[in-house]
Amino acid sequence: MILRFFTFIALFFCIVSFNLSDVSAKENRKKVVVSFSILEDIVSVIGGKRVHVTSLVRRNMDLHMFQPTPRQAKIVSSADLVIMNGLGLEGWMERLVKASGYKGKTIVATDNIPKLKFEDDHDDHKKDDHGHKKDHDDHHGHGHGEWDPHVWLSVPNMKIYVTNVAEAMSRMDPSSKTYYMKNLKKYMSDLDNLDKFIRRSVNSIPKKDRVVITSHEAFGHLSNEYGIEMLAPQGLSTETRARASRIASIVRFIKKNSVKALFPENITDNRLIQQIAKQTNIKIGSSLYSDALSEKNGPAGTYLNYMRYNIETIVNVLK
Ligand SMILES: [Zn+2]
Repeated sequence: MILRFFTFIALFFCIVSFNLSDVSAKENRKKVVVSFSILEDIVSVIGGKRVHVTSLVRRNMDLHMFQPTPRQAKIVSSADLVIMNGLGLEGWMERLVKASGYKGKTIVATDNIPKLKFEDDHDDHKKDDHGHKKDHDDHHGHGHGEWDPHVWLSVPNMKIYVTNVAEAMSRMDPSSKTYYMKNLKKYMSDLDNLDKFIRRSVNSIPKKDRVVITSHEAFGHLSNEYGIEMLAPQGLSTETRARASRIASIVRFIKKNSVKALFPENITDNRLIQQIAKQTNIKIGSSLYSDALSEKNGPAGTYLNYMRYNIETIVNVLK
């Protein structure tokens, strides 16, 4: 009887201390706040269980139009590290960080990535005296700059991006550096495999058919890296209203060339795509994921799946 009592007591303390260590492990996790879902995925790949990551813009949401709430400012204020994309993707971020009172570091994940000009060869863009495009007037104070911020659509870029994130996390939490770097190393080989997959897939499309039409101009880096031409009726931000002349020039282009499909996006209003489809009689493909991942259990729940899904969606139509 006494023995049983002691076994019970021992078991009881075991359970209590186990729960306590679980709770303290959770409390010890570093709090990383990021602007959007692709960064959220990268931080959880590198940080594993040692990090708690919060994305300000939710999955499937358009970050060009995002309005931060007071609750989100509070989350920023208690962060151990803040990570953003930069290159004008999150025009609201600096103001939010400042207003929150957060005193830590804000890391820009696109540092050291070769910059790509916002390519636009449509004739409705006037240049100012300095040769800068004046197209961004109607961004209402928000603005993508002259560089394309959607760098993650090139896997070689992503290798720099992820390294920037892993190094910043190691500086934030030096005791976990070995752990983060081990995760980084494994992920780099996943990225190499992804890159091979994309090149193989694109090579299976006849060269003259490597043309894709989407809603907003998010895919410049994909185009630049892998040689698929991407055209969009909207400008670089989803906020820019498409101009009639631009739509007309895309319609002309489609009629002249062998464009096989239009692709809507998960984050944008796709009425323009429908309008162009009607005028040209070409079919509308499945939605591409552009500036946001899908929900975790969706087809583009991680960055790796996001890229695979987009490429498979494009290849299936163009092949
Ligand atoms: Zn965008």
